[in-house]
Amino acid sequence: MMKITGVKCELLKMPLPRPMQSGSSSGTKGGPVGHIYMPLAIIKTDSGITGTGYGWTLLGGATAIRCVIRDDFTPLLIGENPLDNERLWTKLNKRLQTVGRTGVVNEAQASVDLALWDIKGKAAGMPVYKLLGGTRESAPVYGSDGGWLYMSVEEMVDAFESYLSQGMMGIKMKLGHDDPKIDIERVTGVRKALGDDIWISTDANQKWDYPTAMMVGRELEQLNVAWFEEPLWCDDIPGHARLADALDIPIAMGETLGSRYEFDAYIRADAADILQPDICRVGGITEMIKIVHMGQVAGRPIAPHHMMESTIQVACGVMSSGPIEYMPWISGVFSEPMRIEDGQMFPPQKTGLGLEIPEDVIQKYRIE
Ligand code: MG
Repeated sequence: MMKITGVKCELLKMPLPRPMQSGSSSGTKGGPVGHIYMPLAIIKTDSGITGTGYGWTLLGGATAIRCVIRDDFTPLLIGENPLDNERLWTKLNKRLQTVGRTGVVNEAQASVDLALWDIKGKAAGMPVYKLLGGTRESAPVYGSDGGWLYMSVEEMVDAFESYLSQGMMGIKMKLGHDDPKIDIERVTGVRKALGDDIWISTDANQKWDYPTAMMVGRELEQLNVAWFEEPLWCDDIPGHARLADALDIPIAMGETLGSRYEFDAYIRADAADILQPDICRVGGITEMIKIVHMGQVAGRPIAPHHMMESTIQVACGVMSSGPIEYMPWISGVFSEPMRIEDGQMFPPQKTGLGLEIPEDVIQKYRIE
């Protein structure tokens, strides 16, 4: 039996390739956010196989996530069989349930879970998406790092055209100005510049109340927008249900939800048309594949949120459709870029997650 012999924890802080600003995320002084934090769990085994997993946060909790991995999870993992990812997921989840079943604890859980799947793939001699089921060999990509609130219509169109020229299926832009008329003007401007046939989705990052979201949603329908993401506060399930019922445009949400139970509440309430789990915010691959299957049963398309480098394994492993969101926030730490051809992303063909973080990169970005 393989055994875990050690867990090394690092915390990286990297500059974002392009600063971000959304309806709910801005810097401490209200401007764009410039950095991302990436807690790492590097799990060593007595077989010589090492697995690396990660979480992410923009706005806080980074050192707390590191503490959970180091102080709480590591003692629970030493001596365990790393191939028992399901049992270990539940063991960690139950141990810390009273201090967090989402947020900080889930990001720590994801760091461990991704590392365990990395080990499992390496032990099996295959990429994780093949281990999960090998449903498809690539997934379509939409460009998402180019529609921030501080960017002008011209700047957004420039960024979007660079995505579309690579054959990507479409683009996403942010909504969420204090005056929603500004957002409608911006979407109108982007629609005019890109043309009627281009797939455009929009994201309000929980900015609005119900009447504002209704008004904006009806305008977005006129602009042939593919989805209206996070119109309301993420705990407002009845509000999302009312909105989904009243509007024709699909309501997309899920990036802040932390578990299958939270997704189940949205599904039961008919409160979201498209589900957007984030692989790290739900605690890793083990939980995400359950959410994907729940969405399949409920007839809700899955459009995963961010973290494309690991999400591609789930998207190709167990999903027969659904896009990858191109957001290269952590791409700079890996030794090789993701392969994208004609707008399709391909999972790495190496064993495990196929992601290598060179030691000099860790040394460059690590913080105490
Ligand atoms: Mg979003």
